[in-house]
Amino acid sequence: MSEQSAAPRKAIVATGEMKRLMSDHFLSLDQAKKEGRPKVAWCTSVGPAELLHSLGFLVYYPENHGALLGATRMATDFIPVANAIGYSPDICSYLTADVGAYLKGQTPLTNAYGLATIPKADVLVYNTNQCRDVQDWFAFYAREWNVPLVGVHTHRNIKSVKEHHITDLATQIKQMVPTLEEVSGNKFDVDRLRETVRLSLECTKLWRQVLECGAAKPAPFTFFDATILMAPAVVLRGLPEAVEFYKRLLQELQERIEQGVAAVQGERHRLYWEGMPIWGKLRNLSDLFSSLHTNIVASTYCNSWIFDAFDPKEPFESMARAYTELFIVRDESYKEAYIRDWARTFAIDGIIFHDAKTCPNNSNSRYGMPQRMSEGLNLPTLVINGDLNDLRCYSEEQAKTNIEAFIEQLDERR
Ligand code: SF4
Repeated sequence: MSEQSAAPRKAIVATGEMKRLMSDHFLSLDQAKKEGRPKVAWCTSVGPAELLHSLGFLVYYPENHGALLGATRMATDFIPVANAIGYSPDICSYLTADVGAYLKGQTPLTNAYGLATIPKADVLVYNTNQCRDVQDWFAFYAREWNVPLVGVHTHRNIKSVKEHHITDLATQIKQMVPTLEEVSGNKFDVDRLRETVRLSLECTKLWRQVLECGAAKPAPFTFFDATILMAPAVVLRGLPEAVEFYKRLLQELQERIEQGVAAVQGERHRLYWEGMPIWGKLRNLSDLFSSLHTNIVASTYCNSWIFDAFDPKEPFESMARAYTELFIVRDESYKEAYIRDWARTFAIDGIIFHDAKTCPNNSNSRYGMPQRMSEGLNLPTLVINGDLNDLRCYSEEQAKTNIEAFIEQLDERR
């Protein structure tokens, strides 16, 4: 894809502010490990982070580290190191890249922020709402460091969220409190939890509004921008910094819409991306789509950090609901209706499904969904085979050929 030429783009100014926030986040984790306080909790990306913040933990997200390993293309070197100790090449390549990097004593945080190592966990907190891999991933570190491992087991593949799901999940979250109090050295305070949930709610509302800017024609950002700009919604939700950041970003995007600033010059086609990003190929794919005057304006992946259900009045129950209503937790019929809604609202011309080899949980092309969506919406669909991190599963030439043919098909339909 090296010869493709994409028109120059007007940079999103808020990206600079986001880089500073991320740097502060990692430097504060590093400082905490040097000083022994505050304690550091590792949390899955759609886990009960609000509870951890309310107990005074600094929160670290290994999936964010996994994505960094992918984006820096270090992952492919480290995956075989984890394979060598028995972690299969077929399981989550965030897990294998992260464990492999740990075993090699390396991290992209060194080049990016000057950290010598990843911040060691004082406690590991998972939620299986995404997959079982996160539990096994955290269990590796619990054995390695002899630290507590606690978690929430979410009901999966559900059509609608029922009261008994919420009661169960809220109880499971509450049951983690004694362990977390002991590790943090702080007493649980429901008012602090309410405040954290309130901040997460504000963050998530703003993030939704940001993503909804993609409905504008032309769209002011691309899916590839959003995979970067979502970082504060993942790692800083529950903190005031995330709220302030998304207020500024939203304002900037609204100004771009008013001024007609297009993220893709001469936007001709608008696509939906279903599935994980291919982290090591973000730039190449962004340039390819730009050169084809095609913008990916909406995605399931970036929407995964919209949690409409947060409610400070019912902090445990609303966390349980927010982390269960997720797309990834739901059955095929829910997922199809969800994509249909977004496709209509965003005036989508076609849908790309990324079948990520090591993440069946975020690959929705394996049970006939592309064909059903194509018929139901009268829209072309394309399945790209690849992976989030393991670039051995991705053929750049094959993907380019398929994408170009897909765009020609869209051109013919116009
Ligand atoms: S959902 Fe997929 S990418 Fe995320 S942790 Fe699980 S297997 Fe890995």
